[in-house]
Amino acid sequence: MILESTDLQNDIRAGVREVCSRFDLDYWKQSHEEGTHPTEFVKAMSDAGWLGALIPEEYGGSGLGFTEGAIILEEVNRSGGNSNQVHAQMYTMGALLRHGSEEQKRKYLPKIANGSLRLQTFAVTEPDAGTDTTKIKTFAVKKGDRYIINGQKIFISRFNNTDLMLLLARTTPLDQVQKKTHGISLFLIDTREVGKGIEATKISTMLGGDTNQLFFNDLEVPEECLIGEEGRGLYCVMDGMVAERILVSGSALGNGKWFIDQAVKYANERVVFDRPIGKNQGIQFPIAKAYMELRSAEALMYEAATKFDNNMPAGAEANMAKYLCSEAAYDAAEACMQTHGGYAAANEYHINRKWMQARMMKIAPISSNLILSYVGQHVLKMPRSY
Ligand SMILES: Cc1cc2nc3c(=O)[nH]c(=O)nc-3n(C[C@H](O)[C@H](O)[C@H](O)COP(=O)(O)OP(=O)(O)OC[C@H]3O[C@@H](n4cnc5c(N)ncnc54)[C@H](O)[C@@H]3O)c2cc1C
Repeated sequence: MILESTDLQNDIRAGVREVCSRFDLDYWKQSHEEGTHPTEFVKAMSDAGWLGALIPEEYGGSGLGFTEGAIILEEVNRSGGNSNQVHAQMYTMGALLRHGSEEQKRKYLPKIANGSLRLQTFAVTEPDAGTDTTKIKTFAVKKGDRYIINGQKIFISRFNNTDLMLLLARTTPLDQVQKKTHGISLFLIDTREVGKGIEATKISTMLGGDTNQLFFNDLEVPEECLIGEEGRGLYCVMDGMVAERILVSGSALGNGKWFIDQAVKYANERVVFDRPIGKNQGIQFPIAKAYMELRSAEALMYEAATKFDNNMPAGAEANMAKYLCSEAAYDAAEACMQTHGGYAAANEYHINRKWMQARMMKIAPISSNLILSYVGQHVLKMPRSY
């Protein structure tokens, strides 16, 4: 149980808040409305060392734990920003760190840590596979010392604002593997060198930002791009899922706290029928309820992060924390939106933009249903539901 933050954690909060204070709500509104990447923000976070925080010191990072990683992302969202623009770098590098060769780690990690290389894209989702990653069809064929890759990915974030991309592709067809999780490989691809091998078309989403459909047309990459053993790629990323769940929990928590702050302020200020609207139980109670939900979700997030940082099994806690933090943050978003009445629809109040972020966190990167099925099957030992 976390009763008090450490001095280090307080310093991290203060440091991240200082960077975020340079990017006000209108900066994020403009980025959202114009669909532009917040390049200046990403650079400022990188320059301050926050994006390399989880990379071990021997590779140029700060060697911090996932508790601190979650706090960094929480503070970004609590300031009204969008941590989605930076979170991938923090969790995807784990696959490289744990499964990359020493040569790969020395080549990439120090540059990722100092911000001269961006690892912001992780390409998994495909139109026909959806959440069932074992059904991906993007295929990499080995020819001599190169792989030739063909296929299609969908909803791939930040492809136009990264230097490196982690890609999951099949190297053995599904009908030729003993276990469906076998035969998938992980590649680290330098997107600056792909030329016409990858065609990206932008997908316009309610979140703004850089989301893409990718078509791989005989993309040739050197065999050195393979991370870990051929055919074991899914396992390379699966052990990073716990880390991802913890970091996403921090992001959701930050959103939730931002909504509570805004809702309380507005409920106290807005006077209708000669009294602050916060005097009405219909306004006050949903905010109080969402606040309590957030506090309990936060406790589970710290439990998950503490276990993970101490090399203890944390899959159950991390999944449950992700579920509870994103659900509680959405409840806070709903309460905040209702509190603002018609003004919630006005873009200048920023509520609707943040509400969309909170809503999407119940779906991506993993949906609430899939976590419920994980808990039902793996924690409570009920039959697999799918
Ligand atoms: C803005 C945005 C950015 C994204 N960025 C990336 C990215 O950078 N890289 C990447 O690889 N992907 C990315 N994604 C994809 C995202 O991870 C997927 O959309 C998400 O995992 C859900 O997959 P799907 O959309 O195919 O849903 P589906 O798998 O089609 O599922 C649809 C619905 O059915 C439910 N469902 C499916 N199976 C079951 C079951 N067995 N039991 C109960 N419910 C079930 C799901 O929970 C979901 O609610 C992004 C998506 C968005 C919207």
